[in-house]
Amino acid sequence: MRDLIIIGAGPAGLTAGIYGKRAGLDTLILDESCIGGGQVMTTYDVDNYPGLPGISGMDLSEKLKSHADEAGVEFKMGTLAGIETGDTIKLHTDSGELEAKAIIIATGATHNKLGIPGEEELQGMGVSYCATCDGAFFRGRTTAVIGGGDVALEDALFLARGCKKVYLVHRRDAFRGAKKLEDKVRATENIELVLNTVPVSVQGEDSVSGLTVRNVKTGEETVLTVDGVFVAVGTHPITDYLKGKLELDARGYIVADETGKTSVPGVYAAGDVRTKALRQIVTAAADGANAVESVLEYING
Ligand code: NAP
Repeated sequence: MRDLIIIGAGPAGLTAGIYGKRAGLDTLILDESCIGGGQVMTTYDVDNYPGLPGISGMDLSEKLKSHADEAGVEFKMGTLAGIETGDTIKLHTDSGELEAKAIIIATGATHNKLGIPGEEELQGMGVSYCATCDGAFFRGRTTAVIGGGDVALEDALFLARGCKKVYLVHRRDAFRGAKKLEDKVRATENIELVLNTVPVSVQGEDSVSGLTVRNVKTGEETVLTVDGVFVAVGTHPITDYLKGKLELDARGYIVADETGKTSVPGVYAAGDVRTKALRQIVTAAADGANAVESVLEYING
């Protein structure tokens, strides 16, 4: 039996691993991939991690992973399928049963995709799911944001600060996001609303050159000339296997604050998988450290 098992080797999980080992805990990280990294691996350039401007997502992941390796964290490949809680926590994985005094779930969240032609092929080459991560690369250029929720409205406002023009493409004429944000969007000169419109395909060879959209009322298709397409149609955590075991919010995020404490003693959550306002690498790393503090408090009684 381990002191601590962390599920997920993204920034939250790897930071928790480093802090766990430094605290003298027998620490194992379970991850689906043998290299870890999580969502950050798909970020072309990370421009907002303090102290490491311009580092690529892959380089940052490698640095975090090698730091955890140097700290002596043990890694195991596997996918968590279920947990049993009690005095100890039992984990059912596709590579066998595991047991620990405490666990930290750091399995992240996945951006919803549009599923249109060109999206997958041009991801990281103009198609992005994170305006605050990648927006700076489109300074002085034209971009499109897809979605009508808070994230899409915030992304449009964020991008409009640096972009020449931002199209906000939404499938209805009413926004789901906050009215205050909508008012700001409507008052921003370089944001053009493209309402009642759905994206059809993304064009480009080595980088995005256009977005074909269709008006759902008229059926008319138009090509927007853009350099970047920011998809903001929601995210989802993969937590189905935890239903009935832990408190989850309506969208499946594990209910936990900065301490990482969940509704079950001995089970902690860190990073994008927990309920939180700002899902960024730096907040995920902070969560990993905080969750280990909670684990120590729990194990030491
Ligand atoms: P969201 O609220 O679920 O909005 C997703 C948007 O994408 C909706 O407008 C939806 O259209 C649209 N959409 C979904 N699938 C689509 C598709 N296949 N094609 C085209 N459009 C599609 O997601 P979110 O904006 O990521 O926000 C997630 C949650 O975080 C929300 O609860 C939000 O309030 C919260 N949040 C809060 C803040 C804040 O308080 N500052 C900031 C960010 C996020 P429909 O409207 O037609 O369904």
